[in-house]
Amino acid sequence: MLEDLNSFSKKIQGKIKFNYSLKKHTWLNIGGNAKIFFVPETLIELKDFLLYLKKKNLSPFIIGAGSNLLISENIQNRIFIKLGKNFNKISLTKDNVIIAGCSILDKNVSNFACENHLSGLEFLSCIPGSIGGGIRMNSGCFGTEFKDVLLSVQVIDLNGNVHTINSKNIKFDYRQTDLPKNLIFLSASFKTSKKDKTQIVENIIKLKEKKQNSQPLRVKTGGSTFKNPKNSLKKKVWELIRENVDNQVSFGDAKISEKHSNFFINSNNASFNNMYDLINFVKKRVKESTGVSLELELEIVN
Ligand SMILES: Cc1cc2nc3c(=O)[nH]c(=O)nc-3n(C[C@H](O)[C@H](O)[C@H](O)COP(=O)(O)OP(=O)(O)OC[C@H]3O[C@@H](n4cnc5c(N)ncnc54)[C@H](O)[C@@H]3O)c2cc1C
Repeated sequence: MLEDLNSFSKKIQGKIKFNYSLKKHTWLNIGGNAKIFFVPETLIELKDFLLYLKKKNLSPFIIGAGSNLLISENIQNRIFIKLGKNFNKISLTKDNVIIAGCSILDKNVSNFACENHLSGLEFLSCIPGSIGGGIRMNSGCFGTEFKDVLLSVQVIDLNGNVHTINSKNIKFDYRQTDLPKNLIFLSASFKTSKKDKTQIVENIIKLKEKKQNSQPLRVKTGGSTFKNPKNSLKKKVWELIRENVDNQVSFGDAKISEKHSNFFINSNNASFNNMYDLINFVKKRVKESTGVSLELELEIVN
């Protein structure tokens, strides 16, 4: 059992940082300094760290590519874990199952499938997150979600025990799963099917074009801010916002994208409060004008 983090940090392959800024670990480029930021490179060091936290009665937050997170500046007492490079391995079984480490980016898994003439994971080329974040969020686009392709996920719990969960035992919903928050996803297996590579490439290009035409590019954003609500008006959330909120509204550098009104943008140096105020402003306006309650897709960490 590890007793002291400073000596632990000298023995491990991974990195442990104290009072560490998370700004550059999120797409929104917002966030304060974490008490501890741990990047494990082996399962053993991850397990040791989790047992240390358990002994101290502390719990970590797992961060993936940070593309769905709004992190507060007040995280000086919080502990974050981000899986390191050794958790981004990818391989293929003879029956066309792809096994991917959970820190690998979705687009790299899509590319790997394409290179191996395997279809089914083209949609991953359009999601800027990691496999871990995608499973947690049941991410998806253009009609396919993680639930459609995931076979199983290997996880570690906060007691350091590793389990494999068959996707049949996971309840998936729109941008959520019932997987307990205290699990860290380590690797996952995905089903694919053989297809002509040219057709896969064509499909990826088509999906990327669709995405590029409808969403802002090269900006600091957390993607869709709110989920599409079930509503009697039968409108998408971007329509509800566009029709009921002045899209020039801003709080500091927190703004609504001109290209997609459900994408909020940090145009320079927005703070957590700026973005939070914009979220609440939009939510209130839509509720007052339409009666529809918006639910966040973006996850707030504070
Ligand atoms: C420009 C842009 C476009 C986007 N387009 C889409 C889209 O088309 N479709 C869509 O669904 N989403 C979209 N998103 C949102 C986002 O990319 C997805 O939700 C993505 O899957 C999040 O993955 P991540 O690795 O960034 O997770 P993070 O944002 O880092 O974390 C999200 C959640 O996953 C958890 N998590 C991350 N890794 C692990 C792990 N290893 N084990 C356990 N929990 C973990 C975190 O604790 C957190 O709860 C978009 C975002 C941006 C910025």
